[in-house]
Amino acid sequence: LSRSRLVFFSALIFFCMNFLELFIFVKVPWYGYLALAVLFAASVFSFVRTFASRSSVQPPEMGSRIQILGIPIDVCTPATVLEKISGFIREPDGFFHIVTADSLAIFRANRDKGFGRILHRASMILPDGAGLVWAADFLGTPIPGRTPGIALVSDLCERAAKEGWSVYFLGSKPGVMQEAVDMLLRRFPTLNVAGIHHGYFHEGSEIEEQVLEDLRQKKPDIAFIALGVPKQELFIQRLRPIISKTVAIGVGGSFDVISGNLPRAPVLMQKFALEW
Ligand code: UDP
Repeated sequence: LSRSRLVFFSALIFFCMNFLELFIFVKVPWYGYLALAVLFAASVFSFVRTFASRSSVQPPEMGSRIQILGIPIDVCTPATVLEKISGFIREPDGFFHIVTADSLAIFRANRDKGFGRILHRASMILPDGAGLVWAADFLGTPIPGRTPGIALVSDLCERAAKEGWSVYFLGSKPGVMQEAVDMLLRRFPTLNVAGIHHGYFHEGSEIEEQVLEDLRQKKPDIAFIALGVPKQELFIQRLRPIISKTVAIGVGGSFDVISGNLPRAPVLMQKFALEW
């Protein structure tokens, strides 16, 4: 089904119900009945259009990019992203920035030109938020679904443990990241942890300089940067000129969840695109 038609149909039903409620409580003039009749007819028409016809929209090709508010979003699935990142790591050289975006990040990129430029330079922008999947449908360029940052962290750690890739963990409150990495090490004991650091420091501070230097020396294959939007993207931008080979991924609050300090939305909500 076309999700935009489905939403339109739901909105019409919502209006009809509101009108009916109005009819119960106030005396309605003749044109109120006319409006209800028009709404009812529109709802029936919308119902037929939504459920009786197939969507004629051709989904964009896997691996291509669509545009939302002028910002490119990758058409991907968690599996294709894993393969693409594996390819980046196998490259002899190169700095690869992966963004896990939600609607707010794209809205910010549209408003804040500096942040927008950082996103335009990124190697991949993944649709992490359900809002982007909805927006893609509305714009007539439907994408397969979300690629949540948190699932990516888990999948990449599993692959890294198998392949021997080194992984650096930066972000979250002091102690939380250690708990999350301990949890990951219990699941993937061979995971090669290049470094761990909390994310509470200011731009340009001595701690930040130390973290940047640590990353420069260790050159991890993967650097998870979990400082929240836009702090993590700005940090990755500062990392870009000083490190020649890494895949840096901004993953927001993923480690709060992995450490067990924050629950994810129930699976049913995740399935129905209600997890933001
Ligand atoms: N955080 C951090 N340093 C800061 C601010 C935030 O390390 O200066 C961490 C915070 O502890 C949390 C994550 O960044 O783990 C932000 O999570 P949130 O879910 O708010 O980010 P989003 O994914 O929405 O960007």
